Amino acid sequence: PARADITYFGAGPAALPTDVLEAAAQALIDYKDTGLGIAEHSHRSALAETIINEAKADLASYLDIPAGDYETVVMQGGGTGEFSASVYNLVGAWVARQHAAIVKELGGEGAADEAAVVAALRARVETGLKLDYLVTGSWSLKAYQEAVRLLGPEYVNLAADSRTINDGQFGKIPDPSTWKLSKDAAMVYYCDNETVDGVEFPEFPAVLAPGADGTGPLVVADMSSNILSRRIPVANYALLFFGAQKNLGSTGVAVAIIRKTLLPPAISQPSPALMRKLGLPIPPIVLQYEIIAKNNSLYNTLSIFDVYIAGLVLKKLLQTYPDKVDGQQAVADKKAKLIYAALDAHPDVYRVVPDKTARSRMNICFRVTKNGNVDEAEKAFLKEATSQNLIGLKGHRSVGGIRASNYNSIPVAGAEKLARFIEAFAKA
Ligand code: PLP
Repeated sequence: PARADITYFGAGPAALPTDVLEAAAQALIDYKDTGLGIAEHSHRSALAETIINEAKADLASYLDIPAGDYETVVMQGGGTGEFSASVYNLVGAWVARQHAAIVKELGGEGAADEAAVVAALRARVETGLKLDYLVTGSWSLKAYQEAVRLLGPEYVNLAADSRTINDGQFGKIPDPSTWKLSKDAAMVYYCDNETVDGVEFPEFPAVLAPGADGTGPLVVADMSSNILSRRIPVANYALLFFGAQKNLGSTGVAVAIIRKTLLPPAISQPSPALMRKLGLPIPPIVLQYEIIAKNNSLYNTLSIFDVYIAGLVLKKLLQTYPDKVDGQQAVADKKAKLIYAALDAHPDVYRVVPDKTARSRMNICFRVTKNGNVDEAEKAFLKEATSQNLIGLKGHRSVGGIRASNYNSIPVAGAEKLARFIEAFAKA
């Protein structure tokens, strides 16, 4: 089929707007009449720097990132790399805070005995270091498992687990009153939109919001599959990250937005020697936010081509929506409503997998139960959809079923076409 004829509902990599790809294809051959393509120019060149800085500025504008309070970095380990990076960096920041407090308690810089500081710090790590995870789907589970792998289970607290309230399955978000949050946790981690399970937090969890004094838990969120699709209270987060390959751009880069109080000069990561003495892991240098931030994401060779694509997507969003992310949010909500309405209209044929209270606007997961034989019905659904150029609807291999990934690049007409197909398949 021709590109123009298909609607691609793949979960990531996702479709990119054709005009963005056309501009990127041209830039790959010859960027701005330099005779060299964008993937060939040095990442140290002025034009590469401009591409990074413009993408950062456009992201800040589109999402209303509080000016001056956050640093944005482009990283290369994907969303999965951020699972590890968040652990390393937030543990480091926790240790740095405890270290400063202990030095003060023991008489201040210079007066405090080094061995006594380390002994006190070790004791504090043993009793007080905790990372809280809310596990609401496959991706937060992976992040939790990575924290356990890096640190050991004694430091990682499973603060909530959806499977305990939903017959062993994901699909619901446990009530915040039941979350077992630690005191002074190094971070509270959650995944805002679970791509595999179709579960999205309806809004920022109020229990994690800062109190009247402005302080609150250090909240870390994975927004890989819903970033740029709704307004987020950025100021409530210590760190939020996302891989580019769903709503931002092409596969190959991930973005982290980090509160500056977690970076120098406010806080520096502890020395490797100190971390070794405490038995805590030392981050690979490419996962250390302060190193990447200090070098404006150019500590090592970055794929400027991928940043360029992300920049084009952001410029297009800013041009399309004068009210920025609010404009895109209205469209995303409308598209999701259309598709869920078509599914809900035929409860004898379709079953939406997640609970109504936690339905994702981005990844719409459902089963086709028509005539009782789910396997056959889903095969028929996929075959028929493909013949109508509705592509990429197969659910994740771990859970099966159907998943319509309704990312920003799906036009309203694409969502309408899918909704019409869902209706027609039910009636056929
Ligand atoms: N987090 C979420 C929510 C995802 O959907 C994905 C990938 O689909 C990841 C993390 C992992 O990203 P990556 O494949 O870039 O490591």
